[in-house]
Amino acid sequence: MRKPIIAANWKLNKGPSSTEDFLRSFLSEVNKQSFGVDIVIAPSFVSLSKASELLSSETKVQLAAQNVSEHDSGAYTGEVSVMMLKELFLSYVIIGHSERRALYGETDQVINAKIKKAREANFRPIFCIGETLEERESGKLEDVLRTQITQGLLDIPEKDLTETVVAYEPVWAIGTGVTATSEQAQEAHAFVRSVLKDLYGEAASQKVRIQYGGSVKPANAKELLSQPDIDGALVGGASLEPSSFFEIIRNSAE
Ligand code: PEP
Repeated sequence: MRKPIIAANWKLNKGPSSTEDFLRSFLSEVNKQSFGVDIVIAPSFVSLSKASELLSSETKVQLAAQNVSEHDSGAYTGEVSVMMLKELFLSYVIIGHSERRALYGETDQVINAKIKKAREANFRPIFCIGETLEERESGKLEDVLRTQITQGLLDIPEKDLTETVVAYEPVWAIGTGVTATSEQAQEAHAFVRSVLKDLYGEAASQKVRIQYGGSVKPANAKELLSQPDIDGALVGGASLEPSSFFEIIRNSAE
């Protein structure tokens, strides 16, 4: 039985003070009951210390970074290493988000190096994959996903795979308000799991949590999460307000 994971990706939003405002309001709701899902929040780097301070005594909400360097130290201006993140109360790192692939040129090879680095430091990678609309419409969906998975997980042993969350995020659904239908999402998730099975075998593939991301909102979370291979959601826009992120969690847990 895979425990669902609902994660907030705040992208370039919320400095330390609005992070604190969000968390105080969100925790006051979340702490009233149990949901049986893992709840994760990924603020910007500059807000991680504040969030770490506020969440270190919490058991219900875990923290993620939105990115990490594949290097340990040195002349890499603007980068943040896993050892720096180790000083914080942090469990997950988002790796290979489509915005990092498209805007910052992250290749499957860089993403693979980042996953390895995150695992060396015992962080759980949230490994993002997904196709563009053009790729989907030209019949390349499966080739694109298979390549991203195979290259991204190259030489990653099974023990690290099962600590990794895969986030299937069709690029055409991210930040657009267009959500994949639950059938489209389920079909892609089942395909992702079949590729994991080819690479690692049935038992390991059944242990991996596969999140859906792309315009998840309170109104569609429940239906998406009710699909057999959808084990959670990675939420951008709708995670910025405590009430709407809370509602997604509540609806997913029902
Ligand atoms: C994301 O940032 O990963 C995402 C899915 O964004 P949105 O929910 O806004 O589409």
